[in-house]
Amino acid sequence: MNTYDSQVAVGILEKEGFEVIPEPETGEDSDGNPMLSEGADVVLMNTCSVRQHAEERVWGRLGMLGKEKQANPHLIIGLMGCMVEEHREKIFKRFPQLDLMVGTRNIKELPRLIREVQETRRQVARIKRDGISIEYSEFTKRDSPYHAWLPIMTGCNKVCTFCVVPMTRGSEVSMSAEDVCREARRLVADGVKWLTLLGQNVNSYSGHAPRTTHHESWPVARGSWSEPFPSLLEMLCQIDGLERISFTTSHPSDATEDLFRVIARNPKISRRFHLPLQSGSDKILKRMKRLHTYAEYKAKVDRLRELVSDISITTDIIVGFPGETEDDYQATKRALEELRFDGGYIYKYSVRPGTPASKLPDDVPFERKSQRNNELLAIQRVIMGEKNKALVGRTIAVFVEGPHPENQGEWFGRMDQDKRVIFPCEEDLSGKFVKLELVELHNETFRGRLV
Ligand code: SAH
Repeated sequence: MNTYDSQVAVGILEKEGFEVIPEPETGEDSDGNPMLSEGADVVLMNTCSVRQHAEERVWGRLGMLGKEKQANPHLIIGLMGCMVEEHREKIFKRFPQLDLMVGTRNIKELPRLIREVQETRRQVARIKRDGISIEYSEFTKRDSPYHAWLPIMTGCNKVCTFCVVPMTRGSEVSMSAEDVCREARRLVADGVKWLTLLGQNVNSYSGHAPRTTHHESWPVARGSWSEPFPSLLEMLCQIDGLERISFTTSHPSDATEDLFRVIARNPKISRRFHLPLQSGSDKILKRMKRLHTYAEYKAKVDRLRELVSDISITTDIIVGFPGETEDDYQATKRALEELRFDGGYIYKYSVRPGTPASKLPDDVPFERKSQRNNELLAIQRVIMGEKNKALVGRTIAVFVEGPHPENQGEWFGRMDQDKRVIFPCEEDLSGKFVKLELVELHNETFRGRLV
């Protein structure tokens, strides 16, 4: 979602005459210190609040930018994204060098707000909760001509006790099915072949159904006022020229048999399913208010694999949630070994102020969290390696993303399972689907051969 929001911000700023420059990798001041503001009049940071670590990096960068501003008083420093929603105007007190704060629902106002700071040199904050939460913009600056992110819902009505998202993004809001399909068709007309549908809880999508049941693009007549996620997927699959549809992130309680069946019968839907488990211990799952037990989660994974045999399932795990004992941790370890995910993000629990879990004692010492985190990462790495190795020799559909940045005559592609492949080819097949035989594996990247 943040990537999409940044792409909207860049597109709108460019349309308004701003020149957007990428973050400098090697910028330095005259003493050889790294400079974040190298070459820029305005530095904007889009932020995430999900984990403390991400926030700490932003605080650190604000400090660095503050020093740079002493040498260059005209520099404008701006912050957007979830940290703005979480901390609001308090940030101005902590960082007086900050000029601008823009909420997640006010991105379109960025050009005007920057000009306001330029003219008045006063601190400006625009954090309007009743602004529009998802906006489609034809000016969005995509990083690929063939792939686009498409938010279909935002916010979250779940109450996971560790999570700050309901506070920063608010309650669930879904785009209407009509708007999603219209935007998807517009993107396809613009050359997009692959869409990634976005939502904090994407599979609980529930947008208004199309007003008429006879519209050209809605093959299924429905009486209900809202469209659930599986039928939105089916509508999108009808769009000619749209060749792959991915989505992220799903919550297990909205991962239904109906959704699995829609995936099974639609080859356009990506064969990667990201389904956060968080913990293998029922006691911890209950404390997290994840709304499922381990057995219920496992039953879903088993059913999905039964219905969609080539599906790649990835997950998120949190270690060190308050009250996680050695037994609870061992249950998570067994879960990873039993479920054999294709990939997993393992996080150390961090307290998020204002969340229900912040009232519980953060009682797993940091060293133990790190130790558990490292052990699970190592287990998951081995499983992923084994699963990837088993794919070598298979012939698989691959979307060609573009040229390899260094090796001429080589191309990057992504399998339906969202794994990366490099392959040689004389011709530029960017934006096309090809069949590749997977011949080798280097770390997590395959090498393929056109067949
Ligand atoms: N459904 C959301 C979840 C994003 S957060 C979305 O995709 O937008 C991604 C992951 O961060 C979660 O699945 C969880 O594993 C982890 N996470 C969330 N809050 C956390 C916290 N307080 N400490 C550590 N990890 C956390």
